[in-house]
Amino acid sequence: MLQDNLNEIENRIQAACQRAGRSRDEVTLIAVSKTKPVPDLQEVYAAGVRDFGENKVQELCGKIEELPQDIHWHMIGHLQRNKVKYIVDRVALIHSVDSFRLAEEINIQAKKKGIVVPILVEVNIADETTKFGVSREDAMELVRQIATLDGVQIKGLMTIAPYVVDSEENRAYFRKIKDLSVDIDNENIDNVTMDILSMGMTGDFEVAIEEGATMVRVGTGIFGKRNYQNT
Ligand SMILES: *Cc1c(COP(=O)(O)O)cnc(C)c1O
Repeated sequence: MLQDNLNEIENRIQAACQRAGRSRDEVTLIAVSKTKPVPDLQEVYAAGVRDFGENKVQELCGKIEELPQDIHWHMIGHLQRNKVKYIVDRVALIHSVDSFRLAEEINIQAKKKGIVVPILVEVNIADETTKFGVSREDAMELVRQIATLDGVQIKGLMTIAPYVVDSEENRAYFRKIKDLSVDIDNENIDNVTMDILSMGMTGDFEVAIEEGATMVRVGTGIFGKRNYQNT
């Protein structure tokens, strides 16, 4: 059954790429498996997915233990500094860096392990008070500060667009963050690339792809509705 959901999402990704004149390889599908049990992840893994997203450190670490080693794990949720040490060397990418203090802690833990940790800077593109992320106005300055830390490497930007019924309402936000990533790229800051743009979820991933997303984070569309009582 999850295979059917996945097929549908895959078809829609391909169609969006085609509309935008983009190649399918430019977009990575991240299966957002938060709150979902390990057998569900195994089913999606068996269908070929190798990128999974989680938003809680404890749940992420538990699932890493139970699933195959060739999975790329993405930390997409708000990250507390005291938990950084548990994940720095176990995730492929941290999407949710929104302060210098958090980046500094990642840097400290990366150096202890002798690694460089790839990160994205999370931007609160619609200035929603309920969301984490640096404002668009402060993003450039934060990128410059974080770029001085050699245990982390900025690979791009991430955003969570507002919840909307009509995904077209988010098109302007996606365009704004794409513009911001181009502006940052044009500054040619050492230790910074803007190769990744992580945006688009179940409700709006097609519009996000049309506006330049290179990673889409799809949960409900693959795994079905989440039941938070079970977690
Ligand atoms: C839960 C979550 C998603 C997936 O949301 P769906 O609407 O279920 O696709 C994507 N990104 C982040 C940061 C999330 O927390």
